[in-house]
Amino acid sequence: MKPFQQTLRQPVQCAGVGLHSGKQVTLTIKPAPVNHGIRFVRTDLAHRPVISAHFRNVIDTSLATTLGQDGVIVSTVEHLMAALAGLHIDNALLEMDAYEAPIMDGSAGPFSVLLKEAGIVEQPAKRYCFVVKQAIELAEGDKKVGLYPSQIPRVTCSIDFDHPLLRKQSYSISLDDGHFEEEISHARTFGFLSEVEYLKRNGFARGGSLENAIVIDKDKILNPEGLRYDNEFIRHKILDCIGDLSLLGLPIVGHIVAHKSGHALNHCLLKSFMDHKACWETVEATARTV
Ligand SMILES: [Zn+2]
Repeated sequence: MKPFQQTLRQPVQCAGVGLHSGKQVTLTIKPAPVNHGIRFVRTDLAHRPVISAHFRNVIDTSLATTLGQDGVIVSTVEHLMAALAGLHIDNALLEMDAYEAPIMDGSAGPFSVLLKEAGIVEQPAKRYCFVVKQAIELAEGDKKVGLYPSQIPRVTCSIDFDHPLLRKQSYSISLDDGHFEEEISHARTFGFLSEVEYLKRNGFARGGSLENAIVIDKDKILNPEGLRYDNEFIRHKILDCIGDLSLLGLPIVGHIVAHKSGHALNHCLLKSFMDHKACWETVEATARTV
């Protein structure tokens, strides 16, 4: 892992629609000073309130990850967070003029492209990271998630659906430079047609369409262009995992293993990890940490 913190060379902007709210939103990603971390600013509200992208500020994980502080929220932040973590950006200010982040194409690809366009620069301060010293695991029914010691930051996810197009899928990547962008960032979110219809009837997924999600019917995918990867579903699960676990606030040197996990269980893992102080230590990142 690179030993120095990173931010953007210059601000970049994109606009889109919120997946659940259907609201138009403009997102401006700006450079930030050392030790600032990732913070959101609601520019549409008086006094421009700021919310740190930290798991202690997570207030809802039911459909997406929502952060809140003093009654102000930002929601569906996980893909954006995954892009920042995947590209090893430590410090950035994310300005939004609505409460929900743009869903773009349902992946983290457009955010990654934007961040690369801005340029990523090293800053004159050491990067710190959480090194996993002891394994920690959580289970809920048949769902499981854990963090294990590993010199190389790695994420392994598996799913097991009773559906002909999904079944069992498992995939693993190391978070060394380059792997995230090529292998993970373009994998889109997915949902079953029956669930999407249910969500829409209940006022959610208002911005959802085949432009920003893979929609799966009984035995086929409704998107005319098909899949971007044979195993796009499990790659997206890894993407979500990277976004969720980045809310720890510092990079993790360890192996994240998740089976059928989701935002809620990933969030519980972070709380449990922090509470079990024997499981981790914070150290300066060095080239040897990976
Ligand atoms: Zn997702």
